[in-house]
Amino acid sequence: RSIASQVESANCGSSSSQDDEDGFGDLRSLPVDVCERRPTCLRCCRPQKVCLCPFLPVHPLEVSTCLYIVQHPAEESRALRTVPLLAACLPPGKCKVLVGRRFNEERNPELAAVCRDSRTLILYPGPDAQNLEELVQKQDWDQDRMGEQFVRAVGPNVIIIDGTWSQAKDMFLRNTLLHQPKQVQLSRSEQTSLYVIRSQPSNICLSTLECAAVTLSILERNEAIQEVLLKPLQALCSFQLQHGALVHHSKEHLIRHGIYDKQMPTNKRKIKRMENLITNQHICPR
Ligand SMILES: [Zn+2]
Repeated sequence: RSIASQVESANCGSSSSQDDEDGFGDLRSLPVDVCERRPTCLRCCRPQKVCLCPFLPVHPLEVSTCLYIVQHPAEESRALRTVPLLAACLPPGKCKVLVGRRFNEERNPELAAVCRDSRTLILYPGPDAQNLEELVQKQDWDQDRMGEQFVRAVGPNVIIIDGTWSQAKDMFLRNTLLHQPKQVQLSRSEQTSLYVIRSQPSNICLSTLECAAVTLSILERNEAIQEVLLKPLQALCSFQLQHGALVHHSKEHLIRHGIYDKQMPTNKRKIKRMENLITNQHICPR
């Protein structure tokens, strides 16, 4: 066994009862820095062994849109995160991440200013949301009619909430700041999410990276952006699958196909909630 694995097992406390026959007893008592044990790539934030940088664009994508990722604190500590991959594909300053549950004018003056800006959109589905593609088409049409050249010196801002759908719902409903920008949703999300590692409550709920990829390709009028941004996600998923991760079909998919592997809940409220996953237009409208 290597010294590293000795130290690692000592750190986990699994070899404390073993005899010191290999002479590494002193090493076991040394403090081990967790970061040193699993060196992380600074660009993609992945452990170096599974660094996804070869799948990232050589140069950051040139975009005029500025993304604001409002991230639930639980999302930051997840092992499989897609936002660092997104940020690594974009120029510095074009993808800002704000971590928290509650945001307000005093604590978050920058976000408050962005929310007041008329060029800001918030990506959150619902009955009041306009389809992003239709909005962009209408803008193009308005500009043509007025005979004006579309000046893209200052691009739009887009706020995206990063979290599970219930965290995102809670954050949207409880932060009035987020009700100020024009609410938009994606209509092209009929495709099943690529991000199969993590359960999605519904097939049409995309990962934050996928949402950002579709949003940017619509706003920047450039389909290639989507391909470039999804490359590291595809690599991440295929890597995880090769290493034994289970494919998590969405609950909706499993229930529809009668292969939901967990015992069906007996609690009426839970059953209702699962039914809502399939039918509730407020959670993920098509
Ligand atoms: Zn990397």
